[in-house]
Amino acid sequence: MLSDTEGGATISKAAIENATKVVDVDINGGWEIGQPVPYSSLAHVFGLIEATSKRLEITSILTSFLLLVIKRSKEGDRSSLLQSVYLCINKLCPDYQGLELGIGESLLIKAIAESTGRKMDAIKTDLKDVGDLGLVAKNSKNSQRTLFKPKSLTIPFVFSQLTEIAKTAGHSSQNKKISIITKLLAACSATTDEAKYIIRSLEGKLRIGLAERTLIVSLAHALVLRDQEKAGPAKSKESLALKLERGAQALKSVYSELPSYDHVIPVLLRVGIEGLKEKCKLTPGIPLKPMLAKPTKAIGEVLDRFEEKRFTCEYKYDGERAQVHRLEDGTIRVFSRNSEDMSAKYPDIYEQLPKAIQSNTTSFVLDSEAVAFDRTTMKLLPFQELSRRKRKDVKIEDIKVWVCLFGFDLLYLNGEPLLHKTLAERRTHLHQHFQEVPGEFMFAKSSDSETTEEIQAFLEESVKDGCEGLMVKMLETDASYYEPSRRSINWLKLKKDYLNGVGDSFDLVVVGGYYGKGKRTAVYGAFLLACYDSESETFQTICKIGTGFSEEALKTHTEALKGLEIDKCRSDVDAGGARPDIWFEPKMVWEVLAADLSLSPIYSAAKGTVDSRGISLRFPRFIRIRDDKNADDATGPEQIAEMYERQSLANKGPKKGAAEDDFW
Ligand code: ATP
Repeated sequence: MLSDTEGGATISKAAIENATKVVDVDINGGWEIGQPVPYSSLAHVFGLIEATSKRLEITSILTSFLLLVIKRSKEGDRSSLLQSVYLCINKLCPDYQGLELGIGESLLIKAIAESTGRKMDAIKTDLKDVGDLGLVAKNSKNSQRTLFKPKSLTIPFVFSQLTEIAKTAGHSSQNKKISIITKLLAACSATTDEAKYIIRSLEGKLRIGLAERTLIVSLAHALVLRDQEKAGPAKSKESLALKLERGAQALKSVYSELPSYDHVIPVLLRVGIEGLKEKCKLTPGIPLKPMLAKPTKAIGEVLDRFEEKRFTCEYKYDGERAQVHRLEDGTIRVFSRNSEDMSAKYPDIYEQLPKAIQSNTTSFVLDSEAVAFDRTTMKLLPFQELSRRKRKDVKIEDIKVWVCLFGFDLLYLNGEPLLHKTLAERRTHLHQHFQEVPGEFMFAKSSDSETTEEIQAFLEESVKDGCEGLMVKMLETDASYYEPSRRSINWLKLKKDYLNGVGDSFDLVVVGGYYGKGKRTAVYGAFLLACYDSESETFQTICKIGTGFSEEALKTHTEALKGLEIDKCRSDVDAGGARPDIWFEPKMVWEVLAADLSLSPIYSAAKGTVDSRGISLRFPRFIRIRDDKNADDATGPEQIAEMYERQSLANKGPKKGAAEDDFW
């Protein structure tokens, strides 16, 4: 390893080789400077990425491509790079704008049939054999004879058509979508993978094994290389590799504060990596990914971790995370844990919050929990009350159960980000700039307790008051800075329920169903659940869950899952040895508790991490539907492996401190 004495970063020789390697990604002779990027080049790059599982290799391939896009763009062109980046992660805009791809299989089959002249049944049979509609589309093109050569697809064209499809809604939208997809497919060249990736994009999953964090590293590397080329040859390979490493760190940090390529990429192109931090900061109106907590199941663990440090315990309210932004012009926006704009769900927050804002407050970003609240008894209500509320178009006059907002952090105040202030300072600002309005806006109840007995007493009090337990947070030093998108060991969640279980609940995706027996034949009696590995973009099965459901619940789940039934296990589901009666589109997320974790020859979760076998949940118990989470927000195999290891250590003896895991 070489070490960077100035910055403290370390970088291996292999990483230097990879970071500075240029991969030939230009397959298209017709791509001239100033011309739109050919989609065939991107499809070629997707193919190269799909063919490898090595993260460093993927980074090199993507860096080379993005650098080429930058170098061949016209002066002042921001959109070529922006659109290329979005297509690589299969998005069309920042998450909070809510425009998503994810077209149903039957509509895509219809479009493939129309565009290639094949019968729908033949396409369905192929899909059963191959298991990948993208490949079926490509093969269908191969077998199609064309009279004239279609005009080549370009990135701006594909991007605009995908956007159009995602925006199309309402009356006759199906036909409109089919017509656009048919035209797109007709323009795909049969000798490339264009059709394969267009179909996969439309399905909502590219399945090439490209994680967003790898894209961010590649984007940073491309910009560093561009600037280095302008400045002349680097002093040495090592100095260039260090610049690349620092560039990647800088972009990761900026993007976690301002997760919008629309905002970051134009600045990146204009000022390069060096000047980025100064120009791109947390901005009200653009939600940042919230800081998350590590689970813990014993007060002793909390004290081990926070020994000799100042920390605070807060009530862990059982509601929905609400990141509330107020822009300088007074506009208020409420965002969910997933950066979804929830403004239409919470008209009550709009009515109530202004009373809680003190006159010395102009703009802010407030981290809080929206909790259902009984205004007569002045008591907290369980999460279920809130989950009955519609997610959109809620009218204030229809609200039966109101929410009270419990503020626990302040991330931005009067034009200044506060992320790099200590929690103690942020909390002081919160209390100085907001005021409590009972039942409408309150500060999260906290106690800066220090002993096991004090924490135990506060935990019990929190549960008595209707909370899930406590959040324990570092109060001082840089360890208490707000860490966007990170599941940090500086925040621990201590839930009463889990003190004797495995430590935390799991958010799992329903991927299969088993028919009920006896009087339950009309409904599913059990379900196959999976975790989600964002690294390989696969769902890995983890357990079958069948106990604890009432007849009524089974009926409701069966109805909700009917629309997600598919003929075959999706290619991004690693079923292991599980064979349910029916497969589902991986969409629905359930929160589940378990007695413990065990190694399993059947299930594939976290296979190869702690053992050659997978890990499964023993005695899983359904808790609730998590409709605030997407399938790719489900618990990851690394968290499952970590819980398994903690459990084995706990069974063996002294506990180990939890390792960091997060978006990066
Ligand atoms: P995670 O967000 O950790 O993936 P999750 O969404 O299932 O998991 P929990 O594990 O129950 O949620 O715990 C974290 C959540 O607790 C936060 O996202 C927030 O919504 C809620 N919460 C309630 N009270 C607080 C508090 N005082 N401080 C921080 N978060 C709190």
